[in-house]
Amino acid sequence: MARPINLFKILGIRISIDYTWFIVFILFAWSLAYGYYPAHVPGLAIPAYIVMGVISSLALFICVLIHELSHSYTSNRLGLDIKEITLFIFGGMAKLTREPDKAMDELKIAVAGPLASLVLAVVFYLLRSAVDTAYHFQPVTSVMGFLAYINLALLIFNIIPGFPLDGGRILRAVWWAKTGDLKKATRVASRIGKGFAIFLIVYGFFQIISGSFVPGVWALLIGVFLQQAAEGSYRQLIMKLSLEGVKVKDIMTRNVITIEGGISISDAIERYFFRYHFVSFPVVSNHGVVGLIALGNVRGIEKERWPATAVLDAMEKLSPERVLHPNDNVMHALSKMLSEEVGRFLVIDEGGNLAGILSRRDIMKSMEFKTELEG
Ligand SMILES: [Zn+2]
Repeated sequence: MARPINLFKILGIRISIDYTWFIVFILFAWSLAYGYYPAHVPGLAIPAYIVMGVISSLALFICVLIHELSHSYTSNRLGLDIKEITLFIFGGMAKLTREPDKAMDELKIAVAGPLASLVLAVVFYLLRSAVDTAYHFQPVTSVMGFLAYINLALLIFNIIPGFPLDGGRILRAVWWAKTGDLKKATRVASRIGKGFAIFLIVYGFFQIISGSFVPGVWALLIGVFLQQAAEGSYRQLIMKLSLEGVKVKDIMTRNVITIEGGISISDAIERYFFRYHFVSFPVVSNHGVVGLIALGNVRGIEKERWPATAVLDAMEKLSPERVLHPNDNVMHALSKMLSEEVGRFLVIDEGGNLAGILSRRDIMKSMEFKTELEG
């Protein structure tokens, strides 16, 4: 998948948009400018409709952003560390470093978004009435009215009880609180989500062949999007659950090859990087492990200086945040890697000795393996 485009940072959260957003944006503005507004406010010039369409689409984007920020803000207040949101036009995906571990937290986070949409719908409805009484300027009142309506639609769409929609999360949280079985709660909620997606796809298809092209395409698009999201988020959760109870020492790589800190970078490249094809090596000095040297560190130094620079001066020094213990949970290790944006941690035992190394790839491999086995 293509990388999302970074836009800006708000409340400490990086906002980016998915490429598909542009396609949907154009489709949306176009269907408003050529369909909805000419039917609701007849008699205006075409450029006026285009301006109304574009403004409405941008406003919708902001409303979706506010909806998503309400989820993320609540998450962060509850101690979940959300640093990035990727927006699609129908919603967003927060980059979760970990799932909420209490049903009540999940419920609060899930409710925050629809609540924001409800408030927005009411605000636009009141604005519309105020503008209508004061100026009676049809283009503005109809844009306001549309925004009230679209926020209401977002609210209704999002509270459909299919995972990963908010309604599905609410259902899952309630089920989870009642039974204590997160896996089953997720399975039920994603099935409903998939069922609803299939309904939308079939409905969209029949709309298209019966001549309602634009609403049909919308239903189809949303259905496909939802189907993929339901499938993907369920699989992701199963993977995460499969890591429960797994300790770092169970999956780390032991017998790690280390580099003596005193040797030069040229020597390290020749004798270690070229020979073993690892991207990083722990560095030892006479007192034990002192750091980690990766290809990235080497690349940061000009080639002419390699023979004269010691590994010790180029490596990343060992810091407590970048170290794992053999008995740490792998889930904890994964969220640490995601929040530090580091792909590889050293594992140090109580005695301060190097016990192994754990990479994100090791974790992924073990997750895939376990999910394959459990089906
Ligand atoms: Zn939401």
